[in-house]
Amino acid sequence: MSENMSIKRNILLNPGPSTTTDSVKYAQVVPDICPREKEFGGLMKGLREDLVKIVHGDLEKYTSVLFCGSGTINIDVCINSLLPEGKKVLIVNNGAYSTRAVEVCEYYGLPHINLTFPVDERPDLEVVEKTFKENPDIGLVHTTHNETGTGILNPIREIGEIAHRYGATFTVDTTSTYAMRPINIEEDNIDFLMASAQKGLMAFTGLSFVVGNRAIIEESANYPKRSYYCNLYMQYDFFERTGEMHFTPPVQTIYATIQALKEYWAEGEEAKWARHTRVFNAINAGLDELGFKQVIKPEERAGLVSSAIYPDDPNWDFEKVHDYCYERGFTIYPGKISTTNTFRLCALGAIDEDDIKEFFKVFRAALDEYKVQVPIVYNK
Ligand SMILES: *Cc1c(COP(=O)(O)O)cnc(C)c1O
Repeated sequence: MSENMSIKRNILLNPGPSTTTDSVKYAQVVPDICPREKEFGGLMKGLREDLVKIVHGDLEKYTSVLFCGSGTINIDVCINSLLPEGKKVLIVNNGAYSTRAVEVCEYYGLPHINLTFPVDERPDLEVVEKTFKENPDIGLVHTTHNETGTGILNPIREIGEIAHRYGATFTVDTTSTYAMRPINIEEDNIDFLMASAQKGLMAFTGLSFVVGNRAIIEESANYPKRSYYCNLYMQYDFFERTGEMHFTPPVQTIYATIQALKEYWAEGEEAKWARHTRVFNAINAGLDELGFKQVIKPEERAGLVSSAIYPDDPNWDFEKVHDYCYERGFTIYPGKISTTNTFRLCALGAIDEDDIKEFFKVFRAALDEYKVQVPIVYNK
């Protein structure tokens, strides 16, 4: 059926779920199957290995553990499962997604340090190091690679190096870089990273995964159990013994993800990152041409999310511009900074620079329709 039925192609410029290929969409359409059949279980092994290979992990040392949920489940799992008794969590926080990890600590009542930095700046590594010196009981450090709320790239390799020097485990939220911006789990000093199928892999929501150090997971069997459904060791152990997820997996999303992985390897890490970069450059060129200011300095952008500041123009109305674009197949997204009104354009998904050129024609027409002045007006 697949070849002859075409599905309307929407260009999603939101930070995930991302635009998918038709072949990935159709991969969900399979005969009904009980996920406890060997045939289905067999698919999981290759999938789990591929997820480790994407970040160049040695399969002896690193493994992946799958969960049924959106990306936030990974933050929950890592924080609640990887903190030894009597230790503290340090969150290196310069944005909304690291704040989510702080909230996880609060909900579980875990001792933690919320080390905050301005949302438009990289964390100061000297302050990070000083925090370790003053708190010898830090057992787990967490940060976000690409703060999707702004698009800033955080220095994970450097933070990981400090964490390891002080004997702490390092978890990184790579949800908005994984399978896009190249990562080498070992060289980047990461113990655990995470993502979900609907972002860089360009598949669907429902499958999330943690990739990390097998020895630490095994050690965590002795850490306090703080959640039943979201325990990393429990899910890992079940996989190791049975090859299956402990509870019902997202069957159709797994089929789609397997197809997405085939397409990932066919495109290749370098070519895929080059394509995202082309898209990102086209987004920035389009915003610059219209006179939009952005939150993050060009040299500190992770290359996937642009965060543009709202014009000081009485005619600017994000909702109206959004709806105009949406009706024409393009989705733009509000920002996630409490202090500045922004909107985001993201370079995720199965799109290329021509899509961005088309988008800017529509976006420009929307600005004209609502009489927003171009070049964009700012008061200061
Ligand atoms: C998308 C994203 C998540 C997951 O968000 P969900 O709404 O749970 O899918 C987590 N961290 C980062 C950095 C993200 O970009």
